[in-house]
Amino acid sequence: MQLTHTPAINDSQRRQLAPLEMPPRLLLGPGPSNAHPDVLQAMNTPPVGHLDPAFLALMDEIQSLLRYVWQTENPLTIAISGTGSAAMEGAIANSITPGDTILIGVAGYFGNRLVDMAGRYSAEVRTITKPWGQVFNLQELRSALEAHRPAILALVHAETSTGARQPLLGVGELCREFDCLLLVDSVTSLGGVPLFLDEWGVDLAYSCSQKGLGCSPGASPLTMSPRAWEKLQQRQTKVSNWYLDMQLLSKYWGKERVYHHTAPINLYYGLREALRLLADEGIENSWQRHQQTVEYLWQELENIGLKLHVEPEFRLSTLTTVCIPEGVDGKEISRQLLNDYNIEIGGGLGELAQKVWRVGLMGYNSRKENVDTLVAALKQVLP
Ligand code: PLP
Repeated sequence: MQLTHTPAINDSQRRQLAPLEMPPRLLLGPGPSNAHPDVLQAMNTPPVGHLDPAFLALMDEIQSLLRYVWQTENPLTIAISGTGSAAMEGAIANSITPGDTILIGVAGYFGNRLVDMAGRYSAEVRTITKPWGQVFNLQELRSALEAHRPAILALVHAETSTGARQPLLGVGELCREFDCLLLVDSVTSLGGVPLFLDEWGVDLAYSCSQKGLGCSPGASPLTMSPRAWEKLQQRQTKVSNWYLDMQLLSKYWGKERVYHHTAPINLYYGLREALRLLADEGIENSWQRHQQTVEYLWQELENIGLKLHVEPEFRLSTLTTVCIPEGVDGKEISRQLLNDYNIEIGGGLGELAQKVWRVGLMGYNSRKENVDTLVAALKQVLP
């Protein structure tokens, strides 16, 4: 592998740099999405210390608000200082005891990321697979649980690489029948797609701040059920990842208030404001807004002759995969949207590379006027 190297700035350059200026993009890709203006405003608030009583009170509010948007009473519900992958690693690191079997549903890029991570924490990794864009049904999950008898079943609720929504109703009961924990990736669903952690029996879930919550990236929700917490308490070995060890983190987020790391204060301001806005709207209203906006998108795209990759029943309300028509250079279209219209959309990953575009309508961006802006631009750039 070749590493590139940009030389250090020299003396004549260092005084000529202009203050930061970035293009005003409309972020309609797989994430990040645009943060709500009030969230950006909140992030401008001067920082206090990470053990200041005012900041600790804000952390408590974040926990309560996360429980609300996730529909859970899990005491251990926090934000990890890092992006969604850090929260993903937190869920893996704190649930796998070395040698545990973990069964992972792989029907896209992020299922594969879970496989990679779990292997690094010395799990016996087993997979159940589906073509990208499809989902697992209860019978398929039951057969796989019977065959592998895992300690953990991991599923991606919203597979951002394909635009498919994995149904979770009934999976928690299956996991109890087979005495395993249910771990769910809700990075592209939290805030935008109905999710009932307690009712559905989800034991570990993680998400991010930059999608359905409408914040900037960097403060990522992670929650553990009492079952998952008990397993963690009983393990004989330390969690291999110090930074993401929930037993240590719980002493900072819980009553003890022991210093663990310097929290990214301003990001937490943003997360708190994003969650406040969501609570003000009402989580059910947010789910409904996402569904209505995306159905409008689907209709508008079909009106201009485009086809969608996922069956309507399993489509996500936050992310849509659009088939790139025969003979069209997908990358060139994305490039024109970005350069000429300041609109970002995503390209396909893995099996779907060059085959689909990925259009995200998440959080603050899930609004009809954004669909109109995108479709008007597409009409201009499509051959
Ligand atoms: N899981 C899913 C389903 C995702 O879509 C993403 C990112 O898009 C991640 C995990 C990783 O999150 P991040 O990029 O914030 O680290």
